[in-house]
Amino acid sequence: MITSQLHPRDQLVATMQRIYRLRMTTTSGGNLSICEPDGRIWITPARVDKGALTPDDIVCVLPDGRHEGRHPPSSELPFHREIYRRRPDLRALVHAHPGALVAFSMCRQLPDTRLQSHVHQVCGRVAIAPYACPGTQALGDNIAATFATGADCVLLENHGVVVGGRDLQDAFQRFETLEFAAQTLNRAATLGKLNVLPPASLSVDTMPAYRELPAHPSTSREAELRQRLCAFVHRGYQQRLLISTAGAFSARLDGDEFLITPRRRDRLELELSGIVRVRGDACSAGQQPSRAAQLHAEIYRRHPGVGAIINAQPAHASAFCVTDTPLSTHTIPESYVVLNDVVKLPFLRIVEDAAEIASKLTLEKSPVALIANEGAVVIGRTLLEAFDRLEVLEATTEALLLARPLGPVVNMPPSAIDELRRVFSIA
Ligand SMILES: [Zn+2]
Repeated sequence: MITSQLHPRDQLVATMQRIYRLRMTTTSGGNLSICEPDGRIWITPARVDKGALTPDDIVCVLPDGRHEGRHPPSSELPFHREIYRRRPDLRALVHAHPGALVAFSMCRQLPDTRLQSHVHQVCGRVAIAPYACPGTQALGDNIAATFATGADCVLLENHGVVVGGRDLQDAFQRFETLEFAAQTLNRAATLGKLNVLPPASLSVDTMPAYRELPAHPSTSREAELRQRLCAFVHRGYQQRLLISTAGAFSARLDGDEFLITPRRRDRLELELSGIVRVRGDACSAGQQPSRAAQLHAEIYRRHPGVGAIINAQPAHASAFCVTDTPLSTHTIPESYVVLNDVVKLPFLRIVEDAAEIASKLTLEKSPVALIANEGAVVIGRTLLEAFDRLEVLEATTEALLLARPLGPVVNMPPSAIDELRRVFSIA
């Protein structure tokens, strides 16, 4: 289902459900709106359980101020209206109180979006608006004035965040990306000094041009791989291993031919037909593969045993990518057996430095690499093996972060590691 093709009422319900399921709002907090070209504003209602919203609950506010619907509009209507008045390019707004961004709003700090280039590109300029009482025109004026400076994401002091977009999907994706970045920054703050990308590395990423692959009949193997890829992408999204705007999954079909997730599509809305077939510098007609396709091609070419590859930026593992803190997998047997030793690489570009990244990975000794200010690259013989590695990587880094306030971590001794290598036939 493509949410952006639905009626505004249904878009608002689907998006609120998604935000609630992801625990980025509470039952009572948060509101969403869509502004139509004729000035009508569709908005979530006041005092209705956000976990059980239906399309009939949505309110339509007319340009003359009257409203249609069975509930009054959100008490935050004043700021929605004021932002649309001052920023006509914005057609949808997301307001909520997600934990990591609220932490920044309470400390009156801005999350630094230079931690990863995709965050910087998706979120645009981030600013903070002075505190005012909820529901008041004063709060509306403060937020709208901050949006008027060109910011697309505005934190509210001691309150939460408002994010705008050209449509609701755009606003949601920006909101989710900023909250996820804030979670990463929050975790990184417990590890050490944050490293950010210099301006040159934040500029628009290059995207290689692809020729069209000739049409061909689909095989049962291709159909099966498409289904598996889709299922793992959705599962990865639910498990918060990836978000709507970042993460690439691929699986090898045959030789140097593979299937990969498309460029710039909401990962949760991925459908079988959206998956792109790639061979060399050609891909299925009318589609664009993920930007990571060139890196995946290089890895498949260099490592014949690799059957699947994942690029992702889960929040705990990413905290280790934006600080210099070393990551040891000698913590529990599962971590060492599944991940072996994780390679930490300096910042490398997914497209331009594909060959260098590919050369650092091996199925036997180093199937997981963390690239500074980029994220994790994970390889496996099968999709399940690669996915499991990503999940264990995130669980391992989460446990390491949870252990920090408890005291120093005691690694397993070399004798225990040697025993694991013997018992589990690790090279
Ligand atoms: Zn609020």
